[in-house]
Amino acid sequence: MAELPGVGRVTVRRFRDLGVTTVGDLLLHVPYRHEPPARVVSVAALRAGEEATIRVRVQSCAVKTTRKRGLKVLEALVADETAMVRAVWYNQEYLVAAFAERPEILARGTLIQRGGATSFVVKTHEIVGAGSEGLHTVGLVPMYPASGDLSVKTIRTVLGKAAPYARHFVDPLPSALRAARGCLSKADALLAYHFPAALPDARAARERLAFEELLLLQLALLLRRREAQAERSAEPLPSPGALTAAYIDSLPFTPTAAQRRVMSEIDGDLARPVPMRRLLQGDVGSGKTMVAAYALVRAVEAGGQGAVMVPTEVLADQHAARLRAQLAPLGIETRLLKGNQPAADRRDTRDGLASGRVGVVVGTHALIQQGVTFRELRVAVVDEQHRFGVRQRDALVEPPPGRPWPHTLHMTATPIPRTLSLTLYGDLDVSVIDELPPGRTPVQTRLVFPEYRRAMWALVRKELAAGRQAYVVCPLVEESETLQAAAATAVFEELRAGELAGFRVELLHGQLPPAEKQAAMDAFQRGEAAVLVCTTVIEVGVDVPNASIMVIEGARRFGLSQLHQLRGRVGRGAAASRCLLLCDHDDPDALSRLALFARTGDGFKLAEADLRARGEGQLFGERQSGLGDLRVARLLQDRRLLYAARREAVRLLEGDPDLSGPVCLLLAEAVEERFAEVAHWLDKA
Ligand code: ADP
Ligand code: MG
Repeated sequence: MAELPGVGRVTVRRFRDLGVTTVGDLLLHVPYRHEPPARVVSVAALRAGEEATIRVRVQSCAVKTTRKRGLKVLEALVADETAMVRAVWYNQEYLVAAFAERPEILARGTLIQRGGATSFVVKTHEIVGAGSEGLHTVGLVPMYPASGDLSVKTIRTVLGKAAPYARHFVDPLPSALRAARGCLSKADALLAYHFPAALPDARAARERLAFEELLLLQLALLLRRREAQAERSAEPLPSPGALTAAYIDSLPFTPTAAQRRVMSEIDGDLARPVPMRRLLQGDVGSGKTMVAAYALVRAVEAGGQGAVMVPTEVLADQHAARLRAQLAPLGIETRLLKGNQPAADRRDTRDGLASGRVGVVVGTHALIQQGVTFRELRVAVVDEQHRFGVRQRDALVEPPPGRPWPHTLHMTATPIPRTLSLTLYGDLDVSVIDELPPGRTPVQTRLVFPEYRRAMWALVRKELAAGRQAYVVCPLVEESETLQAAAATAVFEELRAGELAGFRVELLHGQLPPAEKQAAMDAFQRGEAAVLVCTTVIEVGVDVPNASIMVIEGARRFGLSQLHQLRGRVGRGAAASRCLLLCDHDDPDALSRLALFARTGDGFKLAEADLRARGEGQLFGERQSGLGDLRVARLLQDRRLLYAARREAVRLLEGDPDLSGPVCLLLAEAVEERFAEVAHWLDKA
């Protein structure tokens, strides 16, 4: 950087604070937008109210203080050969020194006429002959985020000086690919992005750079997957046989087309000698559990074992009960392993897993914390996988040295827009169950304002009197678990003594002792309790088909995806179901979000809306942090480029699986340089 003319030590240091240490970094420090061009006109041709650039010589200048507000203003008389005008700069009185020599300047601003006085209010200017003529005032002006002591002007000026060095950028894209896509060279794209002649040039340049960035990211992810699989071998399972057929026959329903498609994708994975790494996404109620059970049965049929790891005890109980009901008739023993269990039970389960007597185990973190060993773990299912870290998942599946790895199915009911799953989970294969089992009626969702509260509780009572059940979800308190528990308890006490007096109401929140949680859940599950007052602990997986109404207090505090998860707890049975969102009148943003939620049943659409509203950095926790690295590309805006980049990455790796051939050599280097840390953040998340 220091070799650029006019760039001193101080500037170098300020750039370093921005993470820019080399001329290369600098050229990659791209603008976030371009200021549209202003016409260059003569002073005589200036029109009031219209932004324009003039080329003038300073005739005289002085600092004045405004009468009304005491602002410092620099006033200068400036002129070209057509006319003279009074130019003003606000808060830049220090310019008086530079203007003392009466330089020629380019000034961009607007002519203002007020009360007979005319002045040209300057937005930006530059001194002609300083070596950066027109950079700040003429044509499209690139805008960069200024930071601390580094002004946009300095960034622009230094970039102007660095521009010739863009020629030194080696283009990582293979020339055939460039030709096929009709891309600019990297150097041209960078120059055109910083200093475009017209807006379409800037746009084309941005797309070229965004495509490259997304391609490098996709290559990094796919290479990473290949590497992980190369290091790990798995036992291929023989084709499905009689036991699998018996399982399918025993189902009380016919699998949907989507479920069948995912099962055959899983069959494809299980037949290979590398461990399956598949992410199964499906909206709440889409029937992921039967698909997971299918994979477990395949494991047992092949003489191995299956394990299911879930994030909460409530879910563990429920999965265990359901799987037991489905698998016992097939002669498969299913066990539950969780923290809160008599030691003798746990020991017995551990022995059964070690000897192979137990075919399937469902458990919480206890599965990894308690040194469980399997005789032959073949399939591991991780439910709500984003609640576990990579290390925890690996701890479950890592075999003793020299033994094969199990096939792993990750499941999530959080619909992840494809743009995100391709980036966040680009190292996994993704299956989507995009079809609900037949016969579901959509959950009727309504906003309820305070004046209708009483009527709403009357409706709830009516539903309960008809023998159905209700959830009441308490307002979200993010600050602390204790406050959350207190809020839930308050709602519980109030309802029990008030609107819902006479019905059995149970309370469920994260801070209750496990036995109490269990008792509340059991009572609700068995239909003995009419109402479950709860926090988001019920967000995942809880299934009580007789529950037909859900009241969500303080609905605006929840994200749309989260509300969608909650709503998925009702509408699981034959009865028409309702979801009632309590809200106030005075928050228009929240109301429009909630209104969107009320009319949208599609979890993917809601997730996209969340993504738009909350930005890319917020939805999926730690994995997301890696995305902060994207410099040019924006996932929502650039989805078309992202899909193209994914296709191109797959195609390139088909021809050259580790990018070691001469065509891809530069590409491989660029991936390494740009996204070596991808491996890092995938491991962390
Ligand atoms: P998810 O885990 O995806 O939220 P579940 O697997 O819990 O969904 O399934 C929701 C309900 O739908 C369960 O009661 C299940 O028995 C039922 N179900 C699953 N698949 C089908 C199907 N193909 N036809 C009818 N009902 C189904
Ligand atoms: Mg489920």
